[in-house]
Amino acid sequence: MKILVINAGSSSLKYQLMDSVSHDVLAKGLCERIGIDGRLTHKVPAKDLKKEFEIPMPTHSEAIQSVLDALVSSEHGVIADVKEIDAVGHRVVHGGESFAQSVLITEDVMKAIEDCIPLAPLHNPANITGIKACQSVMPGVPMVAVFDTAFHQTMPEKAYIYALPYEYYEKDKVRRYGFHGTSHRYVSARAAAMLGKSIDQVKIITCHLGNGSSVAAVDCGKSVDTSMGFTPLAGLPMGTRSGDLDAGILQYLMNKYGWNIDEALNVLNKKSGVLGISGVSSDFRDLEAAAEKKEHRAILALDTFNYNVKKLIGAYAAAMGGVDAIVFTAGVGENGPETRMAIASGLEFMGVKMDEAANKVRGKETVISAADSKVKVLLIPTDEELMIAMDTAEIVGK
Ligand code: ADP
Repeated sequence: MKILVINAGSSSLKYQLMDSVSHDVLAKGLCERIGIDGRLTHKVPAKDLKKEFEIPMPTHSEAIQSVLDALVSSEHGVIADVKEIDAVGHRVVHGGESFAQSVLITEDVMKAIEDCIPLAPLHNPANITGIKACQSVMPGVPMVAVFDTAFHQTMPEKAYIYALPYEYYEKDKVRRYGFHGTSHRYVSARAAAMLGKSIDQVKIITCHLGNGSSVAAVDCGKSVDTSMGFTPLAGLPMGTRSGDLDAGILQYLMNKYGWNIDEALNVLNKKSGVLGISGVSSDFRDLEAAAEKKEHRAILALDTFNYNVKKLIGAYAAAMGGVDAIVFTAGVGENGPETRMAIASGLEFMGVKMDEAANKVRGKETVISAADSKVKVLLIPTDEELMIAMDTAEIVGK
């Protein structure tokens, strides 16, 4: 089947046309500046081809139409007719407690995704706009929603409940949801395959370390805990996000500087994390360069990040009563040998032994622990688009 995977943001839209059997990416690209002017970047990997166009995109509908035009173009297209697209898979950020799996989009499903808008006020509206635009430009083509939160719906109550008055959970749905679920699900399945075991026999800790970062405990294929929470602001310090912090700090700083809650949240979301500590950058490449020049705050930012990932690995091993494999994925996890080494070193007591030479690799599925390491450490490039395409093909094929 040919599946179009769509990840719609408020002014951008990423797409990939994939073959669900061969897993080939036939074409992929990005629409930017939707609602402003409009730019399309279109790539055909098999031909090593990259094209850029300026196309007016007043709304997401024109953006999708420009993607379809590019896909069937006689010059840089990959299909003869839009009818060759069997289905569309949409990334949707928040499925609340309504969705523990990917689903075929119906009117009821749209309504349930709309009901989750208060939980993800920035993301779900953009995802909904993307779905509606596709429905208008490709009427009759089946569409599937794949949720970032769905994989973590298996967490036990004790892992997702916050120690607040219970009514805020019951009435207001305040709980840990977790994000990056599609990535954690994909890499944990790949990890089981690399170990030559069935997913229901293994305990895996997946570390999705990118601009946004989260760690998950995956026990027998089920997420049993994860570090992001009610929002993606929780857990690890990230590129620019603070991660967990004492809520009392908010009151203290808001009083001291006269911030309103939006100003406070802006500091926590955009000015904190490794950027905030280092004062250098949110990008780990810049931090590593500054650390090489012995800049204290850059070293501190990296140390703090690594220390927090290490602590979560210990916590999740305890939560699961053991661990068979630790997986590193996403931008930093795939491309940062020093970060991986710093996180995994010191975990020898729990059976982790790295292979320094094997770890000097980027972006390739590899075992990076020593042959005699009790716990396997794996580098697995994530592929959320492939996961979305596979879910879509499976649901539509039924
Ligand atoms: P996002 O959360 O935006 O999807 P990514 O998973 O793409 O983020 O990760 C982006 C981060 O990956 C960058 O901010 C950068 O710090 C890091 N990164 C990318 N390439 C490298 C590299 N070669 N070495 C170290 N870090 C890298």
